[in-house]
Amino acid sequence: MTPPLIGIDIDDTIAFWPPDGVSLAVPEEDAVEVLQRWTEESIVRIVYITSRKQKRREETESWLKQYGFPRADHVLYEEDIPGGKPLALNQRGAFALVDDMPRTLEAAVAAGLTGYWHNIPKNGHMAPAASHPGLHPWQAWRELDLMVRLHVRAG
Ligand SMILES: [Mg+2]
Repeated sequence: MTPPLIGIDIDDTIAFWPPDGVSLAVPEEDAVEVLQRWTEESIVRIVYITSRKQKRREETESWLKQYGFPRADHVLYEEDIPGGKPLALNQRGAFALVDDMPRTLEAAVAAGLTGYWHNIPKNGHMAPAASHPGLHPWQAWRELDLMVRLHVRAG
C-alpha cells in the first residue's frame, strides 16, 4: 500500500530561524530524524510546501540536502500553489498539513485536512479557536511523531 501523503511547511516548522535576525536557519530539534524515520518506515510520503518563492529553490533544496532531510515527492513553492496550501494538498491527495501558521491550518482543516499546528512562541498570540477538532497543536517533533503514527495506524 502506498503511504499517505503529508504536507510539511519549511520555515518555523522544520527550519528554526534564530530570533536575532542575523543567524541562518538550522533544523528544528529532531525534525531530520523524525522525517527520515517516517520515510524509511513508509509511514508517510512527504511533500515540502512553502511560501518561499521559486527563486529560492536552489538555496532551499541544498539546505534540505545539507542537513539530511529526506527526499520528498515534491517541493512546492509559492508559484506552485496559487490557490493556497490546502487546495494544493487536496489536489495531490494529502491527508494532513504540518505548519506553524494558525490561519493556514484553519483553512486546511476547513478543507478537510488534518492540521498539525507547530505551536511556537512566535505564533502563540494567534492561537486558533480551541473548537477546531481537526487541529492538533504540538511543540516538539517527537510529539508530532507519535501523533502522526497514531493517526496513520488508525487509518
Ligand atoms: Mg512556516
